[in-house]
Amino acid sequence: MSRSLQQAAANSAGGSIDYRLARERVVQAYVSGEATRSEVCDAQSELMRNAHACGQSADRPCPICHEVDVVELTYVFGPRLPASGRCMVTAGDFERIRRRKGRFTAYEVEVCPSCKWNHLLSTRPVS
Ligand SMILES: [Zn+2]
Repeated sequence: MSRSLQQAAANSAGGSIDYRLARERVVQAYVSGEATRSEVCDAQSELMRNAHACGQSADRPCPICHEVDVVELTYVFGPRLPASGRCMVTAGDFERIRRRKGRFTAYEVEVCPSCKWNHLLSTRPVS
């Protein structure tokens, strides 16, 4: 998991939040030379593994390397789930979460399977 995702997970209360503007700022920082590739392409090994295993192609090119399409992953955090969240693969996965007691939050993340670019796209309550 990336640093940005861990920070977001730390303050997971509240409703839906869109992180696409923050994502644009990071992309612009890279394009303008303020941020290096290793700073913005920092997906850790577990996130990369999940990107390959259960990422859904987002049909848009990676904003950093432009070599491949990014994939989207959804992690859910909440009671009795792993501290690093659980990767959702099918609609049935969400159904099982909805049947549980407690508050759960879904984190939609964009990952490049090639250069390790990653960014949070949105967070929303699972309901
Ligand atoms: Zn890339």
